[in-house]
Amino acid sequence: MPTHATCWTTAAALRTAGRTVTLLEQDPGHRFGQDSPSPTPRNGVPQGRQPHVLLHRGLCAIEELLPGSREQLVAAGGVPLDTGSVAWLGERGWAPFGTPAYELVSATHPLVEHLVGQRVTALPGVSLLTGFRVGGLNRTPSGDGWLVQRPDGPPLRADLVVDASGRGSRLPQWLPPHGCGHLPTSTVDARFGYASRVYSAPADVLGSAAGIIVLPTRRVPAGGVALPVEGDRWLVAAVGAGEHRPPRDPEGFEGFLRRLRDPALADLAARARPLTEVAVHRRTGNLRRHYERLPHWPDGLLVTGDSMCALNPVYGQGITVAALQALLLRQALTRDTTPGWERRLLRGFARAADLPWAMATGEDLGHLGPGRPAGVVATLFGHWSGEVDRLAAHGNTRAQRRLDRVYHLMGSPACLFDPRLVASVIRGRLLGLPAPTPRPPFELEGIPTP
Ligand SMILES: Cc1cc2nc3c(=O)[nH]c(=O)nc-3n(C[C@H](O)[C@H](O)[C@H](O)COP(=O)(O)OP(=O)(O)OC[C@H]3O[C@@H](n4cnc5c(N)ncnc54)[C@H](O)[C@@H]3O)c2cc1C
Repeated sequence: MPTHATCWTTAAALRTAGRTVTLLEQDPGHRFGQDSPSPTPRNGVPQGRQPHVLLHRGLCAIEELLPGSREQLVAAGGVPLDTGSVAWLGERGWAPFGTPAYELVSATHPLVEHLVGQRVTALPGVSLLTGFRVGGLNRTPSGDGWLVQRPDGPPLRADLVVDASGRGSRLPQWLPPHGCGHLPTSTVDARFGYASRVYSAPADVLGSAAGIIVLPTRRVPAGGVALPVEGDRWLVAAVGAGEHRPPRDPEGFEGFLRRLRDPALADLAARARPLTEVAVHRRTGNLRRHYERLPHWPDGLLVTGDSMCALNPVYGQGITVAALQALLLRQALTRDTTPGWERRLLRGFARAADLPWAMATGEDLGHLGPGRPAGVVATLFGHWSGEVDRLAAHGNTRAQRRLDRVYHLMGSPACLFDPRLVASVIRGRLLGLPAPTPRPPFELEGIPTP
């Protein structure tokens, strides 16, 4: 089982169920002891240099798996903030600002990985083998377990193998000898790209605004985000689809921010001191491998996280899905390991990914235009959530809180059909909507004007 967000949460789940866990990581430089160096982005992990948001449901799930993680992250400098205080420019205008919503703890990906990795590798019964590149999967001669192959050493025996090797997983190539049948896959790629840079500025630099999000829209698929992270730094990212992907050079990056629908991100970048180069990432397509649909599935094998469902990271859902799948694994190991449990659990994993997949691909199909229509239900749902979003952009805080609830995976999309919201939509259509939500105040405190 390779090491990363999915692997940490999965290992924590396996440990609570009393299993002995060996983590296999191809990266030779992965260390988590007390003597390990301070967290820096790892090669081969592109998200290390990009903003990483843990949705509120993900924060709760990790806390459930590893109690005290939130406190630890805050103690290490992670910035706790309320999403209701993040200035959010959606497709139809500014979201209501300042009403308490959900907590996030904003930190760089390397810090989160470091802390969670340290916790997990310190658990009794967990060991980490680095520089172990898994090269294949064979049955033991007696057929009661697996031999995990590596190119340069003897195989490792395991009763249960969990593939958490991410989007580039090679499990589909290793499965055919095990008679599983043809693996169906789904892809939706709106060709989003990221460009990010770290700046020096205190967490309260924007005054009452805890961060800024400018969403890409169908008409202008370009946006950005700025969030404070540990060490009095801000991560500022530009995102865009297709021809609107942001460039790597600093002037082009700042010019991109300047052309967004609102100047807040560009103003912050212009007045804060850059600490890094601009890092880009462009592998963002949604990819789903439907293992749960295979006619046959071998015992002692599971697939989780990005290996099973890699989502466009722009929507910030990947770690949350992995953590929810880990909770399901923990539940299954303590309640149901009767024959076929792996297959049943894969179906549960798939259900945990269904809503995030529908949200990410629904948005991305919209960016791809009429050539790639979404299904009828997705189209109708997209229209309705657009109506609720319009209410929010005209000051309706109930509409905004319901959208937040769905976005943070804290509730079912059915909450958008609350009769009070339906009444507000009808009233708005018949009588017109109140004035648009005003732009939140950005004070840019603590940074001298250049
Ligand atoms: C730019 C970017 C931004 C993102 N932003 C967010 C965000 O804001 N919020 C969020 O929740 N998610 C975000 N994600 C997604 C999130 O990082 C992933 O969903 C999450 O980390 C789970 O990934 P994973 O652990 O399943 O796979 P990965 O992160 O890909 O990790 C796989 C691990 O397996 C190792 N490995 C691969 N093959 C082998 C092998 N053969 N043998 C041994 N080891 C192997 C790799 O070295 C790696 O350590 C982002 C992703 C990217 C790329």
